[in-house]
Amino acid sequence: MQNHTPLREQLSEHLRQNGLKNTRQRQVILDAFLSSERHMAIEELLAAVQNRMSGVGHATIYRTMKLFTEAGIAHERRFGDGQTRYEPVFEGEHHDHLICEKCGLIVEFEDQLIEDRQEVIAASKGFRLTSHQHDIFGHCLDTAACAARKRKRR
Ligand SMILES: [Zn+2]
Ligand SMILES: [Zn+2]
Repeated sequence: MQNHTPLREQLSEHLRQNGLKNTRQRQVILDAFLSSERHMAIEELLAAVQNRMSGVGHATIYRTMKLFTEAGIAHERRFGDGQTRYEPVFEGEHHDHLICEKCGLIVEFEDQLIEDRQEVIAASKGFRLTSHQHDIFGHCLDTAACAARKRKRR
């Protein structure tokens, strides 16, 4: 379980610097975001928020997640299914993604060899790497589990 306190403090600081209020609505959305599964789509976040607070719409979630992204506590991800997804940014943590094109499963991985190679490749091209996103698309090898996940998504 990750520690969420630094993310909460970072958001409060960002709101203060931009003269924005730490409203209850923002807190509820933050709680839903942090307690959720990772890579949450707007619709999924909306459902989680509506469980805690009524009257919050799609546009509010979208705007708030944009604010969280600007504050540096959320990363925006698109994995080719037309959905915008969000995941929390943890200090010093980095991972890449494997995405199943059939069932939508998202698996995180970290590989030091790939990380190092990217640095070497960038440097060899006269380039300094500041960030990267590595998404690998394919299909689950466990076809039964994949089919079951696909049915559940319908
Ligand atoms: Zn991720
Ligand atoms: Zn799959």
